Amino acid sequence: MNYIELVRGYDDVTLVCPVCSGEYLHQNSVKAFWRDSEDGPANVVTSTTNSVSVLREEDGKIPGRRNCIDIDFWCEAGHNLTMRILQHKGCTYLSWIKIEIEEDLPIEG
Ligand SMILES: [Zn+2]
Repeated sequence: MNYIELVRGYDDVTLVCPVCSGEYLHQNSVKAFWRDSEDGPANVVTSTTNSVSVLREEDGKIPGRRNCIDIDFWCEAGHNLTMRILQHKGCTYLSWIKIEIEEDLPIEG
């Protein structure tokens, strides 16, 4: 993955959209994959505005080898995004795994 500006704004702590660099990102939902052990099964908790679900999932359907958190965002410029925080072999990786651009909306930035 190429370097994408992640933050800016006051004290460089405002998360920005990877498409337009806009600072107006809204958290939409979060999904946490929490394993019993490395490469083990996990509880998968998904929380949205009005609901929460908990499922059991076996290894093979869980990203990485340990825990993982996916956060869905929507950008006021019409971009739908998922940020992933993933632990794999002792390292933690931060990446955008989904970037969708709504049609008929101009890309700003
Ligand atoms: Zn955007």
